[in-house]
Amino acid sequence: MKKRYSVIVFVILVLMFIVSACNFESSDSDEKRSKKYFYEIDVFLDTDNKLLECEMSVDYINKFGKSKNYIDFDLYPNAFSRDSFYKAVSFRNIDSIYPKGISYGSIKINSVKNQGDNMFYELVDFDSVLRVYPKEEIKSGEVFNAEINFTVLFPCAFHRLGFYDDCFNAGNFYPSVCQENEDGFVHGNYHITGDPFDTDFADYEVYINLPQNYLVAHSGTAEGETIIGNRKTVFIKGSDIKDFAFTASQNYKKISGETSSGTVVNYYYLNENYSETVLDTVLKGYEFFNGTFCDTQKKKFDIAQTYLFSGGMEYSEMVMLSTDIFTDEYLSERIALHETAHQWWYYLLGSNQKFSPWIDEGLAEFSVYYYFLNNDKVKSEIFTDEMKSNIEYFENRFGNETDLKPMEDIYYFTGDNAEIVYSASVYSSSFFFFYNLYCDNKETFIESLREICNDFKYKAVTQSEFISYIKQLKNYKKYYQKLSA
Ligand SMILES: [Zn+2]
Repeated sequence: MKKRYSVIVFVILVLMFIVSACNFESSDSDEKRSKKYFYEIDVFLDTDNKLLECEMSVDYINKFGKSKNYIDFDLYPNAFSRDSFYKAVSFRNIDSIYPKGISYGSIKINSVKNQGDNMFYELVDFDSVLRVYPKEEIKSGEVFNAEINFTVLFPCAFHRLGFYDDCFNAGNFYPSVCQENEDGFVHGNYHITGDPFDTDFADYEVYINLPQNYLVAHSGTAEGETIIGNRKTVFIKGSDIKDFAFTASQNYKKISGETSSGTVVNYYYLNENYSETVLDTVLKGYEFFNGTFCDTQKKKFDIAQTYLFSGGMEYSEMVMLSTDIFTDEYLSERIALHETAHQWWYYLLGSNQKFSPWIDEGLAEFSVYYYFLNNDKVKSEIFTDEMKSNIEYFENRFGNETDLKPMEDIYYFTGDNAEIVYSASVYSSSFFFFYNLYCDNKETFIESLREICNDFKYKAVTQSEFISYIKQLKNYKKYYQKLSA
C-alpha cells in the first residue's frame, strides 16, 4: 500500500511538472496571441434590402517601433461602387459578372468610437481606405480599440461580394486593418485580376443574424445558435485566421463528412451535380494534403457553392465554388481540390497573394496534380495536358513562353487580356516550375514543402524565406531562371 502511495505521489509530482511546463508554454503562446488583432463583428443580414448592418470592435496592436497617429482599414466593398478607382470588375467581364445589368455595392461607415466616444475619421485613397485618428498616438506595442458601425450594400453580382437568387457572398465585407511595414500602412487596392488581399492572422468572434431558413457557410467554427422568431443568430469563433468570409442562402442543401484526423468538411450546394463526388474528393484531398504537407489541426472546413464568375475563391477555413463548374466530374474535382489546397498555400503558409501570387497559385495547382498522381493517374495526365494547353493558348494568341510573367505582382496584369495572361503565367507557368522541381527531386521536394509548412504554420512568409527552402534542390537554378525570365 505504501509503495503504491509513493508511486501515486511520484505520478502527481510528474503531472505537476508537466502542468507547470504547459503553463510556461501557454504563457509563451499568450504572448504571441497578444500580438494578434482581435475582431468581434455583429452582422445582421437584411435579405430584403440586400444589406449587412454591422457593429465591429477591433483591437489593433501597434506591432512596429514608431508610434501611430492613425490606423488604416481597407474598405474592399467600395471597389464595387459606381465611382471606384480600384475596380473589382474589368470592362471585359461586365456581362458575365452582372446577371441583371450593372449593379453597385458599397460600404458606408456610420460611426467610429473608442470607449463610447466618437472619433475623427476620414475616407482616403479614393474611398478605398478608412483612416481613424485616436486622440493620442498609439505607442509601439500598445493596443487600441475601435468600434466601427457600418452598412454594406451587396451588388447583384457573381463576385466575392454579391447576391443573386437568394444567395449572398460576403467576402472581404468588413473594414480590415491594412497590412503594415516599418514605413506605415500598405493599402489593399482592389484589382481586376488575382486576389488583392493581404491581411494579418487574427482572432475573430462573429455573430451572424439571418433568416431562420437560411444556411450559412463560413470561416471559423460555429459554437452555438439561438433562434428568436423567424431569425437565428449563429455564433462563430475563429483563431489564427487571415480573413472572415461567409455565404448564405435559403436554397442551400448541406452534406458533411469527417477526415480521419477529425476535420469536419461541410459542403453547401445549389447545383447538385457530382455533390457526393465533390465532398468525397475534398475529404480525401484534405486528408492527403494533411498527411503530405502538414496537419492543419482545424476542426472544420466549409465548401460553399455560390454564384461566382471565376471557378472558386479561397478564404480561411472556407472556400467558394462557382455553380458553373459542375459540368463534368474532372472539372468539379479539379477546382474543388485547387481551392482546398489553398488551405495550405495562402492560409496555413501565409504567402503574399498580391506580390507573390506564383507561390500560392502554383503550389495549389501542383497539389492538385500530386493528389491525382497518387489517387488517379489518368486525371494527373489530363491535368498536365490542361496546363500545357493553357500555355499553348497563350503562345498562339500573344507571343512566346518568355512573355509569361509568373513572378510579377497582380497589378502588373492589366488591360483586356489581363486574366488570360495572369492565368497562363501565375497558374500554369508556376505549376511547371514546381512540377519540374518535383520530377527532378521527388521526395526531397515534398520534404521541403513539409518543412516550410511546419516552420511557418499560420505565419506570414516572404518570397525570399520561401525560396530559401527550395533553392538547394537539384536543377533549382535552371527552373528559377525560366520562372523569373
Ligand atoms: Zn487559386
